[in-house]
Amino acid sequence: MTERFKASPSVPTKRLSPEEGVERAAELLLTGRLVAFPTETVYGLGGDATNGEAVAAVYAVKGRPAFNPLISHIANVAVARRLGRFGRMAEALAEAFWPGPLTLVLEQAPGCPVSALATAGLTSIALRVPAHPVALDLLREVGRPVVAPSANRSGGVSPTTAEHVLSDLGGRIAAVLDGGRTVVGVESTVVACLAEVPRLLRPGGITRAAIERVLGMALAEAPDGEPNAPQAPGMLASHYAPRARLRMDAREVDPGEAVLLFGRERPAGLERASTVLNLSESGDLIEAAANLFAHLRRLDATGAAAIAVAPVPEEDLGEAINDRLRRAAAPR
Ligand code: AMP
Ligand code: MG
Repeated sequence: MTERFKASPSVPTKRLSPEEGVERAAELLLTGRLVAFPTETVYGLGGDATNGEAVAAVYAVKGRPAFNPLISHIANVAVARRLGRFGRMAEALAEAFWPGPLTLVLEQAPGCPVSALATAGLTSIALRVPAHPVALDLLREVGRPVVAPSANRSGGVSPTTAEHVLSDLGGRIAAVLDGGRTVVGVESTVVACLAEVPRLLRPGGITRAAIERVLGMALAEAPDGEPNAPQAPGMLASHYAPRARLRMDAREVDPGEAVLLFGRERPAGLERASTVLNLSESGDLIEAAANLFAHLRRLDATGAAAIAVAPVPEEDLGEAINDRLRRAAAPR
């Protein structure tokens, strides 16, 4: 893996004060480094949402075994409109609750610069303007959307102080902006505005009643048993799924197949492939994760009936990559 993002502690993590550190924190984010910062709920692990390798590093540092779509944080609704398509309902909700603990899931705007890894390959995007003054200062300074899941190792407790962040992620991230203790709150409420009737995907800090009052109608429920399932219109599956059949651990290529390689190994019969892309020629799992969804989409768009995927090692981010590939390969 890239030296910068090795899962083992290596970099000294800087502790920055909000008075002097915001500019430095923004510079770090703009060069692809990770910076934790306070939001009104917990400390978030920030990475540039438009930089696939930074987003991959967020997953690597958290040690998540799967890629879930992440929320892109922005400083105001004007920036948000360049990323997502705001209909009347979304405008009303943003007007009423931003900045604050409400996340809106919208169709991506044309040319949305957010990495496909941040949206887990979906055509929708989750957006939020957080209310914490330090978070807002930072987002204004960065001028780009920032993903920020809770700044802890996967399965750990959500951090409410800079000390918590350092004890969990110290040595793995470039810096933490120390804004003191965050008000321990609940997660943001997630509402999808993808259909006529907005849908509650996850209950949280803003109540259903408050949202329904603004909308003047009842929210639709999340599908049974999958309260957190990502939704996109016209998609049966709750995750990205290519149209082409997907074959994992391919050691041989059938005529006409599109091929997704990893590293320098070449499956037999590669000359029979219709199209070939490599997740990472050098075998870097961070780079591979950053390319995963974009490469799958490109291969699928060629119209090939099948995509043969070379073996990806089941280590570090390889676990999450293989998890997504297995879901994409599952019969539908
Ligand atoms: P967290 O960042 O941990 O607060 O969680 C992000 C939440 O937003 C999860 O519940 C995700 O499932 C949800 N989410 C993010 N992006 C999307 C999306 N495109 N569609 C549906 N849900 C999303
Ligand atoms: Mg968490």
